[in-house]
Amino acid sequence: MNKEKIKLLIIGSGPAGYTAAIYAARAGLNPVLYQGDQPGGQLTITTEVENYPGYVNGVEGPQMMIDFKNQAKRFGTDVRTGYVTSVDLSKKPFKVEVDKKKHLEAEAIIISTGASAKWLGIPSEERLNGKGVSACAVCDGFFYKGQDVAIVGGGDTAAEEALFLSRICTKIYMLVRSNKLRASKIMQKRILEKENIEILWNTETDEILGKDEVEAVRIKNNKTNEKSELSIKGFFVAIGHSPNTSIFKDQLDMDEAGYLKVISGTSKTNIKGVYACGDVQDKVYRQAVTAAGSGCMAALDAERFLA
Ligand code: NDP
Repeated sequence: MNKEKIKLLIIGSGPAGYTAAIYAARAGLNPVLYQGDQPGGQLTITTEVENYPGYVNGVEGPQMMIDFKNQAKRFGTDVRTGYVTSVDLSKKPFKVEVDKKKHLEAEAIIISTGASAKWLGIPSEERLNGKGVSACAVCDGFFYKGQDVAIVGGGDTAAEEALFLSRICTKIYMLVRSNKLRASKIMQKRILEKENIEILWNTETDEILGKDEVEAVRIKNNKTNEKSELSIKGFFVAIGHSPNTSIFKDQLDMDEAGYLKVISGTSKTNIKGVYACGDVQDKVYRQAVTAAGSGCMAALDAERFLA
């Protein structure tokens, strides 16, 4: 069997993975990075990124990830296409299977597999994605400055994003499918106090309307089945994220939602030599710049371990 031996494996190609790769490559660790099934990660489905320091005039998300990749390659990162299908972390070196056929042995692993936003799953949401439909208000809210928008969800993410939007947009309709918010009490209070946030209870999204960009949303009250339309320019989905951690189940410590647990202030998981960075271990901040920062931490932790 073809079993390649490598020093450091990085799984995932978002800002966390590529930053880890830049640091690890410069430290002479010859990292191998597998890009996964969405090379570049969540930023490749964003339009313009204006809040990443250093890009004075903003940058398109996909271009930013090409820049990250090229920087990682410049120092010798071996960037590969492929999806890690299983890992065995029970003993060192760690055993890794890629695309169900290739086998590797790695002395250390950095996990930066990210999280995926959950979507409603209606056709208009996919058709208008990036054209008014977004899963990140902090990333895209600014484009709807002074306009009316809607946000779906009633958890802490939706509450936080609705508050963010309330400072930029004119009116925010919060579409909540039940008659209560799941968000923490303090967030609920803040939402209810905001004059430009209107919560529509028992409300589901029937269809997002618009040809080339979002123009309105047709909503349905699930108690009365009554349908109506709201004129909006931006439609935000904030119904949760799923961390991409299924291959680590029963091997690494996770919280109840499946996010990897790290020792606070480090990137260390419960297994020595295995580090986690980016959204796979962060359900609170979830920004490109925080992911990149944690990628740097993971590379430094791995470097110390391998030394
Ligand atoms: P949650 O799972 O807490 O909330 C999801 C929300 O989306 C719920 O209101 C849920 O409704 C709704 N929802 C789910 N599916 C659908 C659907 N198909 N259609 C319409 N609505 C839907 O996810 P969050 O991302 O908000 O939070 C995840 C975790 O992260 C939580 O533990 C949260 O506390 C934490 N968090 C903490 C933050 C902080 O501390 N600053 C910031 C953000 C998140 P229903 O209630 O009916 O199921």
